[in-house]
Amino acid sequence: MGEGSLEAPERRPIPWRDAAYYDAEDLDAELRRVFDICHGCRRCFNLCDSFPRLFDVIDGSETGELDSVPSAAFKAVADACTLCDMCFMTKCPYVPPHEFDLDFPHLMVRYRALEARQGKIGVAVRQLTKTDRNGRLGCAVPGPVNWASKRSNALTRPVLEGVAGVHRDAELPCYHSRTLVARAAAGAPAVNREAPAFGRKAVIYATCFANYNSPDIGLAGRAVLAHNGVETEVVHPACCAMPQFENGDLAAAAAAAARVAAELVGWIDKGYDVVSLVPSCSLMLKFEWPLIVPDNADVGRLGGATRDIAEYVVDIARNEGLADGMSALDGGVTVHIACHARAQNMGRKAAEMLRLLPDTKLTVIERCSGHGGSWGVMKDNFEVALKVGRPVAKSAAEAGNAYLVSECPLARQHMVQGLERLGEDTGRLHHAVHPVELMARAYGL
Ligand code: SF4
Ligand code: SF4
Repeated sequence: MGEGSLEAPERRPIPWRDAAYYDAEDLDAELRRVFDICHGCRRCFNLCDSFPRLFDVIDGSETGELDSVPSAAFKAVADACTLCDMCFMTKCPYVPPHEFDLDFPHLMVRYRALEARQGKIGVAVRQLTKTDRNGRLGCAVPGPVNWASKRSNALTRPVLEGVAGVHRDAELPCYHSRTLVARAAAGAPAVNREAPAFGRKAVIYATCFANYNSPDIGLAGRAVLAHNGVETEVVHPACCAMPQFENGDLAAAAAAAARVAAELVGWIDKGYDVVSLVPSCSLMLKFEWPLIVPDNADVGRLGGATRDIAEYVVDIARNEGLADGMSALDGGVTVHIACHARAQNMGRKAAEMLRLLPDTKLTVIERCSGHGGSWGVMKDNFEVALKVGRPVAKSAAEAGNAYLVSECPLARQHMVQGLERLGEDTGRLHHAVHPVELMARAYGL
């Protein structure tokens, strides 16, 4: 085996429009090539459940090598991948431009793309991941929807588990009666004309989660930016299609990319920066979309112009300086750095941002929460997701801080469930999900 590459990792465009991409024999040969390299390497043994499954099946095979493992066994490996990207970003020395040309997460996407083409992605998963459609419905009748999806509802949750495969104990996000976009349309916060960054303009890509489930993230982000002199608008042209991407529907991801980019490029032309509120969505805009539709110039421009909200605040702090007026937060803060924030190769921006708070104890956790978006709430995955996230929950318990936040709202929710499993009193945690909410709180906004 060759030595690992010392060059910066590259990612290849995804050839999802080519017939060969869906050729079962070709895919099987590629899986065997990559799995054999992983078998000899094993650096990723503790990142997730995919690699342990792979190594267990090889070690338990007749020859102890990949040649005696039936291809049917590969499904369990692919099923356990949450596409967190950590093997590619943090461990693998064989990613392009290394001659081994190994991109494990994108190979799992290809596996699912073939499954999708063969009609093997279940109806329930496809319905659950229509986040815009579900969000509009949920926000139209939040009372009954939130009642039915509540974890304590012994009437509806077993039915949801039976019909849609959602584990009855998995915490599901609530819907709000007014979306972030609707709230933003009702009025913008006054912009602080004395702030050093006055003159910046940013359009906030709401993201499904902040738009339908947690508008507080967007309101807090907007308030922090306004206090720092940034004029903002909030838009949500459509979902970024990360859930469809995770399930191998690359055509849906391509369509979303074209639609969202066409609208946001109009804002870029008017001098606005683009700020995204949830890192999985930012990752799509910045990195995955340009690999899915490399020929779309709007998508390329949008990718280069997009910043995560924490990344944007840190950029203001570094360049113009932040507006005065922050106070300490009592009780300490635990911040989880989401995998999809790490995968953006931008440094630990949520931690950098929170270090700007005066006299506030900060504990940083940089490890996968195990959630993986819609993956972690499914009946077949929920316990695995909690197992993978157990070290993170333990770290959060040991830190014992009053605030527990993550850039990824679903990861935060999952960590709270992990704490419950450890017998921790989660009722003591202050109500805040995203690091930017703590910035707003420190400013007294
Ligand atoms: S992308 Fe994440 S979940 Fe998938 S194989 Fe790599 S480390 Fe495991
Ligand atoms: S993905 Fe790369 S680092 Fe991880 S086990 Fe495979 S070869 Fe090794």
